[in-house]
Amino acid sequence: MLSCSDARVPPSIVFGQPAGQLFVVRVAGNSASPVTIASIDYAVGQLGVELVIVLGHTDCGAAHAAVAGDPPWPLEPVVDPLLELAKADPTASVDDIIERNVRRTMDVLAAHRGPTGRSVNQGVTELRGGIYDVRSGQVTDVT
Ligand SMILES: [Zn+2]
Repeated sequence: MLSCSDARVPPSIVFGQPAGQLFVVRVAGNSASPVTIASIDYAVGQLGVELVIVLGHTDCGAAHAAVAGDPPWPLEPVVDPLLELAKADPTASVDDIIERNVRRTMDVLAAHRGPTGRSVNQGVTELRGGIYDVRSGQVTDVT
């Protein structure tokens, strides 16, 4: 699972999983980067993980900063992927950017030439997206 670092989004609790069941990569803004992709590649290629979930969440600070257009230092590496999405569509809301970021992260993972991309394209590993609502506790599928 690739999820945001936000303390309100604890993946094991969100999905009701005991310790030891999820391989979790957390980074503010839950974007694909060389480090997050390599971590997921390890899970897929070495551990045989067959389900990868990209989990965004409502009220994400990285998305708020992107829509505001002025990421505070030192958050540029975290916000820049979302800032690109916000610049591409200045009318996009924070919720729009959160969803588009999940979709783009999924696209990047599927297109990557490493174990994750290969396994997804071979139909061995399923790639899913979701948005966790920090108020309701519900996850909405992003397909
Ligand atoms: Zn967040």
